[in-house]
This record gives sequence, C-alpha cells and structure tokens, in this order.
Amino acid sequence: MYNRIKEESYEANMNLTKLGLVKFTFGNVSVFDRDKGVFAIKPSGVPYELLKAEDMVIVDLNAQVVEGNLRPSSDTKTHAVLYKEWPGLGAVVHTHSVYGTAWAQANRSIPIYGTTHADHLTTDIPCAPPMADEMIEGNYEYQTGYQIDHQEIQMILVGNHAPFTWGKDGNQAVYNAAVLEYVAELAYFSEGINPQIERLKASLIKKHYERKHGKDAYYGQ
Ligand SMILES: [Zn+2]
Repeated sequence: MYNRIKEESYEANMNLTKLGLVKFTFGNVSVFDRDKGVFAIKPSGVPYELLKAEDMVIVDLNAQVVEGNLRPSSDTKTHAVLYKEWPGLGAVVHTHSVYGTAWAQANRSIPIYGTTHADHLTTDIPCAPPMADEMIEGNYEYQTGYQIDHQEIQMILVGNHAPFTWGKDGNQAVYNAAVLEYVAELAYFSEGINPQIERLKASLIKKHYERKHGKDAYYGQ
C-alpha cells in the first residue's frame, strides 16, 4: 500500500551516503504521500549498508507509526512538523553534514556571498531558532517559528542542531541538501579569507537566480 513512498525514501536515503552527506546513521530522508497523509522515513540507528526499502517506517503527521516493525528516526517529529506546517512538501531531508551543521551550531544563517548561492536562492539560508521545549516534548500545536517562504527557500538550519531541506520529491530534497552543504563550506572559507566580506550585491543575486528560476530562465538545456 505504501510501496511507492518506501522505495523513494529508500533510494533517497542511499543517495545521501553516496554524496558523502552522512556519517554512520546521522541523516534521514522522508517522502510524503499527501493523499494518505503519511510519510515513509528511515528507521532509527540502522546502518545504511543494511537498510532495505521494506524497513522504511510509515508515520502520520502526529509522528505515530502507522506501519513498520522498527522505530522511526529520532528526527521524525521535526519531519512531521515540517509537513504539517507546509502541506506542499513532497520530501524532507535531514543531515548532520559538517559545514551546514557547524553554521547551525553557531546559530548563524548562511549569508549569501556568491553566485553559487544565488543560483539556488536569493536570501541567506535561514537559521531557525533552536527547537522549543514544547516541541521537543511533542506538543504539535506549538508554532515552529519557521516563518519563511518555503516555496523559494527549500533549506534551513535548525539552530543548535543541523540542516533540513525539502523539495517536491526525494531527489530534489537530496539535491538541496548537497547544495546547502556546498554553499555552507564556501561561506565558511570566504569568511576565513576575508573577515570583512560583504553580501553579494542585489543585481547579481537577481541575475543569477532568474537565469535559473525566473520566467525567462535560460540556464541549462
Ligand atoms: Zn539530527
């Protein structure tokens, strides 16, 4: 019944390791089935090399297990909050990739310093406030405080924790996780090379974003 989202979630989870975005079991992808109101997510603590598509756990938006014998990822509550907050999301990725996580631990948004960043979004990658106690304890009525345009900005840092990204499907969400890590690394080195670095100027941000995403986009084939 849930084979499609189990398969897609499995593939996307395996792609996270191929891209070098996770160490040990520190990362997870979920894929959402909007009609059924459930998502498939990686089980907690299972090494990637032992993972199978049928191991994916089916969970509802209250983070309750609907199908599966294994315990879902410990980050399941945050995935559920994101799907609940923004019903348009098709998949959510969470990693502890090194540079993205370093910015999150420092509670800093990643400033837009260059055109690689501007090709993907026109703003800083926001660092949301650390998860509030109410949310950690499971009160889903709590407002997450992720007040952003989730259509344009498909990546955030959760303060003290690590990156979360999303997209229309598993592939896009994983791609965004890789972009976030790349941009996080570039920003880290850019500040090291020039501590007085300034944000990219508005004209370049507009030019780069629109050539890929604007109505007259011309980047690529
Ligand atoms: Zn985590």
